Order: sequence, then C-alpha cells, then structure tokens
Amino acid sequence: MAAHTVYKEPAPIMDRENPLESMMSRFNIAAEILGLDDETYNVLKAPDKQVIVNLPVTMDDGKLRVFEGYRVIHNTILGPSKGGIRYDKHVHLDEVKALAAWMTWKCAVVDIPYGGAKGGIICDPTTMSPGELERLTRAYTLALKDVFGPDRDIPAPDMGTGPREMAWLMDEFSKTVGATSPAVVTGKPLVMGGSLGRTEATGRGVMVSTLAALGKLGLKPTEVSAAVQGFGNVGSWAAKLLFDKGLKIKAVSDISGAYWNDNGINIDEAIAYKNAHSGRLEGFSGASTMDADDLLTCDVDVLVPAAVEDVITEHNARDIKAKLIVEGANGPTSASADPIINEKGIMVVPDILANSGGVTVSYFEWVQNRQGFKWTEEMVTERADRIMADAFEKVYQTSQKYKIPMRIAAYVVSIDKVAQTYKFRGGF
Ligand code: NAD
Repeated sequence: MAAHTVYKEPAPIMDRENPLESMMSRFNIAAEILGLDDETYNVLKAPDKQVIVNLPVTMDDGKLRVFEGYRVIHNTILGPSKGGIRYDKHVHLDEVKALAAWMTWKCAVVDIPYGGAKGGIICDPTTMSPGELERLTRAYTLALKDVFGPDRDIPAPDMGTGPREMAWLMDEFSKTVGATSPAVVTGKPLVMGGSLGRTEATGRGVMVSTLAALGKLGLKPTEVSAAVQGFGNVGSWAAKLLFDKGLKIKAVSDISGAYWNDNGINIDEAIAYKNAHSGRLEGFSGASTMDADDLLTCDVDVLVPAAVEDVITEHNARDIKAKLIVEGANGPTSASADPIINEKGIMVVPDILANSGGVTVSYFEWVQNRQGFKWTEEMVTERADRIMADAFEKVYQTSQKYKIPMRIAAYVVSIDKVAQTYKFRGGF
C-alpha cells in the first residue's frame, strides 16, 4: 500500500455537513417515532441559553487582544448542565449548539442526572503561551461566573483544553465564591480532586460497548479484527483495551497517517512508540503504511472512528466492509451516510452511547468532590462498566422494539427520558 503522510486540515464549517443540522435530522426521526408532542419538541429543539462573551486578554507582547467565547446550555431538566470547553480557531456557535444538545442526549442515554452544555473560545492554543492561556481561561471563567456552578453548569476539557485549564478555572471560580469549589469542573488534575480512571474512561466505554455489540452479533472477540482511526486519548485506549480482550487490531491511524498489519498490530508496542515520539505513530515499524482514507473501508469486522467529525460520509459509506461501527469520536458519521449504512445492515453503536464512558466518569468525579471522598480505581471502573453495559442493553432493546437502527434508538431513549421528566415536572 502507498505511503501516506498528508494530513488534511478539517474543512471550515461551511464546507462540512452542519453538525447542528446533522444532529437535528436524527432528533427529528426519533421525535416522530416517539410521537413527541409539539410543545416538548419546541422546547428541546433549541438551547435553553446561549451566552457570548468578549474576553480582553493582555498578550505577552503587552498588547490587548479580544477573544470571542461561547457557553451554550442546551437543557437542564435532568440536572445541572455538563459539557466541555473547546479552544480552537474553528469554534463556531452552530457547532457549540450541536455539541451542547449532544451532551443532553449523552447524559440521558447513560441515565446520569445532568443536562447538556458546551463551551468554546475562538483562539489558536498552539500559538499561545501558558501565561496567555491562563489569562484567557481566567477571563472566560469570570465572564461566566454566574453561569458556572456545581449545581448549575459544570464544564470539562474538550479539544485544546485539559487538566491545566480546568485547574485555572476551578481556582478562578473558587475566588469568586470565596471557597474552594472542586465540583464546579471535572477533568481536574488528580491532586486537585480528579478521578482515578478518567483518562481511560472513554476508550474503556468504547471497549465495553464493542463487546456488548459483538455478543448481539454472535461474534467472539478473539475471532474478530478491527481498525481504529485516531490514536489519541480515545483511540489508543480503545485499541489497547480491545487488544487486551483478544481482538486483532489490523489498522490504526493518527494525524501522521495510517498503519496496517494483517497479522495484527501489537498495541502495547504502538503506544510505547507513540509515547516516545511526541504522541505520533510516524515511523512505527510494527506495521506498514497505508492510505489514510483506506482505513475506513479496509477489510475488518469492527471499525472504531475515534478522531474527528464527518469522516464517514455518503461518499465512502458504501465501501465500508465492517459489520460493526463503534463511534469513539463525536459525530464521525454524517447524517447523509446513515441510510447507506442502514441499508448495508451494519450495526452502529452511536457516539452518544459509545463514547459516554467519559462523561460517566466525569460524573463520578463530581460525586466524589461532593462526597469529599476518593473512590478506588476498581470502584470507578466497575460502576462505569455497569452503566455502559446497561445503557447499551436499553438502546439495543429499544432498537428491537421499534425495529430502528441503534443510533435512532439511542435518541429515542434519551428524548423519552427528557420528555417524561418534563411531563412530571411541568411548570410552564
Ligand atoms: P486526542 O486529541 O487525544 O486524539 C485525537 C487523535 O486523532 C490523535 O491521534 C490525532 O493524531 C488523530 N487525528 C486527528 N485528525 C485525524 C485524521 N484526519 N485522521 C486520523 N487521525 C486523526 O482527542 P480525543 O480526546 O481522543 O478525542 C477524539 C474524539 O473523541 C473527538 O471527536 C472527541 O470529541 C471525542 N470524545 C473524546 C472524549 C474524551 O474523553 N477524550 C469523550 C467523548 C468524545
């Protein structure tokens, strides 16, 4: 296969499928199946609150620069809203709105008592110094001090942010309320109340839902091959945990290209290589290179897209050979590919179910902060695995009941929970 090292920048939002429209098209199908009344539909189709903030920050050269930031609260009927903060030059309000709604459905599908939110700042964190990023994070926190809160809205890391930013946010928020407030944010460093098991939580949930799906398809993990797109937090952990369960991981990829070994890639070696080479697989000798686009259509039983949005589209869906797709990434399949995948009879464990292990352990972090008590890693893992397995089974049973794909079934489960809660709470 041809060597491939070219990375394509994601297209700006106007050239890609609009994520909000993509989400709404699935929401609409699920709402119709459920017979959702117009009133509840109208409440859920738009976010509860959208905040746009202007953030003046003194840069290292002494000049003042103003950044635009967003926080979108999609819904809080199930509890305080939860969702990450993204630092990226392509942050777009429509995308933040879609991601906020996704969080509502994700929390509802795993039955944790949270609503959905998302935040973002238009900036290029790769060109900013730690000091500039700290001032930006503190400015964002101050601007949103009346939105955030352990019982109101709980941010977390997303693209371009991590434990460091969450520590600044926690510190700044704590100053505004005059008391240390660890439960205002999750994804904190371990010493500041972060949870054991959070790093691998999303990949672990991908593993648990893959095994559950294989069980339904009557396939044995040790007789199954897989390809994993993306070798960051989600992809590398998913690959490692599936490898440990005996799956033959024939292909992996990252931003540097894609790698194939028909006899299976030793994932422990691939991770060790990546850790020793600035987080990239480039030059890994345990596999040969392949065209990055071919990874999605290569001859494997399970495909795990765990990198970026909109990689499975109407252009390549027809060529997919996998029997099972487990979406580690958010929104890897564009809505236009859904009918093709369904027609081919491929089972899809959708993003809002497959990658919800991350928000589940974030919820555990918040619970531990509020309890003032740290759980062992075994407690975290055992409880998270059970939540993932239960959620998978509920979505699977719903898909059987209505004879609908797993993706729509996941939306049905989520929307039904939210709609029922509205009925009980009432109050309009
Ligand atoms: P990450 O930054 O740790 O890793 C991303 C990986 O994808 C890297 O290996 C990168 O090289 C690779 N990549 C980027 N562009 C690529 C391309 N075009 N082709 C192939 N590989 C490419 O990010 P992550 O935390 O692993 O997140 C990955 C996806 O999972 C995102 O969609 C994210 O929103 C979603 N997600 C993450 C979590 C979490 O807990 N980290 C939770 C839920 C969902």
